[in-house]
Amino acid sequence: MKNNVYAEIGISDSVYQMGEQILLSLRPQFEDIDQTAEYNQAKVISAMQKNRVNAACFAATSGYGYNDVGRDTLEKVYADTFHTEAALVRPQITCGTHALAVALSANLLPGDELYSPVGRPYDTLEEVIGIRPSACSLAEYGVTYSETPLLPDGSIDYESIRNAIHPKTKLATIQRSKGYATRPTLSVAQIGELIRFMKEIKPDLICMVDNCYGEFTECIEPSDLGADMIVGSLIKNPGGGLAPIGGYICGTQTCIDRCAYRLSAPGLGQEVGANLGLMTQLYQGFFLAPTVTASAMKGAIFASAIYEHLGYRVIPGSKETRHDIIQAIELGSEKAMVAFCRGIQAAAPVDSYVTPIPWDMPGYDSQVIMAAGAFVQGSSIELSADGPIRPPYAVYFQGGLTWCHSKLGVLMSVQKMLEDGLIQESDLSLPVLEQSI
Ligand SMILES: *Cc1c(COP(=O)(O)O)cnc(C)c1O
Repeated sequence: MKNNVYAEIGISDSVYQMGEQILLSLRPQFEDIDQTAEYNQAKVISAMQKNRVNAACFAATSGYGYNDVGRDTLEKVYADTFHTEAALVRPQITCGTHALAVALSANLLPGDELYSPVGRPYDTLEEVIGIRPSACSLAEYGVTYSETPLLPDGSIDYESIRNAIHPKTKLATIQRSKGYATRPTLSVAQIGELIRFMKEIKPDLICMVDNCYGEFTECIEPSDLGADMIVGSLIKNPGGGLAPIGGYICGTQTCIDRCAYRLSAPGLGQEVGANLGLMTQLYQGFFLAPTVTASAMKGAIFASAIYEHLGYRVIPGSKETRHDIIQAIELGSEKAMVAFCRGIQAAAPVDSYVTPIPWDMPGYDSQVIMAAGAFVQGSSIELSADGPIRPPYAVYFQGGLTWCHSKLGVLMSVQKMLEDGLIQESDLSLPVLEQSI
């Protein structure tokens, strides 16, 4: 029965059957993911109940947005979910990089040092910090920067961190997700241990976590283990696919007050910022975020297991524990990257007829290929894949608002690899797996 609809959409029986067999081995992991989602779902609902979310919260406001009940209540819901004193969550924060730039520039003054104990941060932060020179960077305002790389095995270099923190070190930025690097993603427990270690050396050090892609993948967040601020994008996990724009910063009242002054203006802070009628999407997206994140994680594990079986290097491996929704697959050739991305695109609800091709992108030294058929432009909680065309020819795969869509995307990528002769029918066959009960 099921194979009929898959055949109709272009997936051959052998690809479908391989998927079914791989799935059998993933049931215990899927169960763990469902349990995390269940916990986080209750956490979000509890925060919504505590703050008496009601229809008035969904009303649009315009102009200054004074006394915006919807916006103010949403910020309390975020703060209570992530167990922080305060939160800044609004459509005026345009993306994750913007949220991070606000958090940093609000809490660093000339002469202060920004410090990354986990190596080089995400690409777009290089210009925010001034690692790559840019107008209005922190460097231009007299904020210095230093970093301690992770050790070769991906672990934290505590010895060097002890020596790197000095009186001017004001704020430490910790990136949870590997992003588009090959280092491992940090677990919340690892981040908590790192924060404790650094605060022992310098108790007033502000610890900020770039939480992008990590939200709701575990039952706790870095703010539960000492982070002064956690920061992320609403077109990733916490927007649940429904938020059309936005970012969040949750943290201590002192840090968030400064962030609000930086985002709007000194003296105005959180009191201005009309919600423009986006509240229903922001609330409902946050309500859906735990299960949407679970769907994306299942898709990532399914992709990992399938491509592992096909003989490719996958990061993380299908049996490794996960702390974000990103799956890297080293496909080894441009041709394979193109086929993979064509499959993801062909499985999309939007723009499925488009053929992704490698293209020059500003800021990259090689061509880049991207596949996305999203309702929200650039949304990476929706099913998407991308990667730079250079060795090891890795694609980064993430998202999927529903597990069924992620599954279809992965199967379609295999189908395109098969059709392009990059894998053979014989590669699909599996030894009969032990059935897990
Ligand atoms: C996506 C991402 C960002 C930047 O977010 P944008 O919304 O793309 O600006 C920053 N850090 C990490 C780890 C990310 O994954």
